[in-house]
Amino acid sequence: MHQQAVTDLVKQSATTLGFDLVRIASAERFESDEETALKRLRTGLMDGLPWYTESRVRRGSNPDELLPGAKSIISLGMSYMPPDQPQKVSTGPSGRVAVYAWGDDYHRILKRRMKALVEDVSAKEGQTLRSRWYVDDGPMLDRAVAQRAGTGWFGKNTNILTGQFGSWVFLAQVITDLELIPDPPLKKTCGTCTRCLASCPTNAFTGPYELDNTRCISYLTIEHRGPIPRELRPLMQDWVFGCDICQDVCPVNLKAAPTEEPAFQKSDSAFLDLLWILDMTEEEFREHFRNSPIKRAKRVGLQRNACIALGNIGDERAVAALAHALLSGEPLVRGHAAWALGRIGGQPGYSTLCHALQTENDPAVVQEIQFALQDLASRSG
Ligand code: SF4
Ligand code: SF4
Repeated sequence: MHQQAVTDLVKQSATTLGFDLVRIASAERFESDEETALKRLRTGLMDGLPWYTESRVRRGSNPDELLPGAKSIISLGMSYMPPDQPQKVSTGPSGRVAVYAWGDDYHRILKRRMKALVEDVSAKEGQTLRSRWYVDDGPMLDRAVAQRAGTGWFGKNTNILTGQFGSWVFLAQVITDLELIPDPPLKKTCGTCTRCLASCPTNAFTGPYELDNTRCISYLTIEHRGPIPRELRPLMQDWVFGCDICQDVCPVNLKAAPTEEPAFQKSDSAFLDLLWILDMTEEEFREHFRNSPIKRAKRVGLQRNACIALGNIGDERAVAALAHALLSGEPLVRGHAAWALGRIGGQPGYSTLCHALQTENDPAVVQEIQFALQDLASRSG
């Protein structure tokens, strides 16, 4: 088949399968993106992600290493912003969830479609395509592919901005040995806008296009496994899974078209009842978040996040649940429950902290309790 005809076939098939964006990038090495990623890694901006290594960056920058003989990359995108903003349903304290996690787990949905795309093109081409595909789950530098293909441009908040859907887009890539006609990168930029940089509550941007992962609420609430640094906790507001602030303020996102995909039009998880999260068993967590991206945080991580959100919300109705968590949860949850009780203050929280100090034998939790008591004492006078 002629190169133009195959390229048209790929784009048509991807559109029919429900992808909102489909463009083509050449499979040459991503040299400058590799340098940028290595610099970020070496300066510690990716600390806390032990799997993000130099060799991973090098492999992810070189499509030929991922698929020997790679000729093209199909850059795909699916919008995930639901058409309507959800309302809070719980009357108790609730935590906010980043929009991308409101609906079903996108990995499965996009992978199923990429598989169907490869099968469809193979059948119509009369030969099995050699291919590898990724949805934010492999070494491929997904944003670099999207930028080269003109799927979008790099925003100063490090996200890919697309003209039609803003940054509310899941990116996916199919590397293939098919010779396709590449699309040019877009000429758009953020111009003089700096809104996202100024909006970050934890000061995670070290400059335009540069994010210190270790300060980002998204990383802290989803990927980070241990205790969250104490100085960052008060800045995390009521986010319990992810953070959208630097996307919410982006003017490009104001004009974003909503998703038409029913799996992403759900918003049951937009606000989580924090007392319910705190009380959840492992089985309940697994069952409830089985088909949600939220499962990535694990139950203990989500409960740790819930404690921080409760401490920041400062609602005294949370004291009993936090007291219960302080006396019965895992050490990570106990430590963060102590912090939250210190923030909320009041006599019942104080008494619980004093009682827990007598019985607690995990040194890290003891330290958290002592800090919480000092915090309370300094604020009461
Ligand atoms: Fe800052 Fe939130 Fe954006 Fe992370 S996601 S950089 S914490 S505004
Ligand atoms: Fe770019 Fe402004 Fe959007 Fe930031 S807020 S990504 S600077 S357009």
